[in-house]
Amino acid sequence: MTTQTLSSRIEDLVAAVVDPEVPVLTIGDLGVLRGVTVAADGAVAVTITPTYSGCPALGVIEEDIVSVLKAAGYERVAVNTVLSPPWTTDWMTDDARHRLNDYGIAPPGPAGADAEPVVCPQCSATKTTVVSPFGSTACKALMVCEVCREPFDHFKAI
Ligand SMILES: [Zn+2]
Repeated sequence: MTTQTLSSRIEDLVAAVVDPEVPVLTIGDLGVLRGVTVAADGAVAVTITPTYSGCPALGVIEEDIVSVLKAAGYERVAVNTVLSPPWTTDWMTDDARHRLNDYGIAPPGPAGADAEPVVCPQCSATKTTVVSPFGSTACKALMVCEVCREPFDHFKAI
């Protein structure tokens, strides 16, 4: 087995780690996972870029990466956090956006284009209002739909 194959296999394991704040998405979906390298001596280095600096999920994600790799037999794991370039919601996959919406969270619009109406994940209405710019977490705004009256979270574009 080449080192290339091994690191992509490890990358698949790590990419499947679920984001603790958005359990329907993995860190692969979010673009949080930036890369995996395996040294000749078997030590694994995982590079991640956290979503929002205010999100407390980072420590949990690091622990989950280490434990999933330990379970697969990789004992020496280092998780490196890279803050530059900063994470953007544009790194989120299209598939992830659809699953987010199905889960009841309005997905982010394109980064830097906040003017778009936020579409209600329940009834697809575009008449929605911000209740609080910070919802259940700093990553999300609490919104309410003017048509079906359902409150929902909007994953904010950054
Ligand atoms: Zn609605």
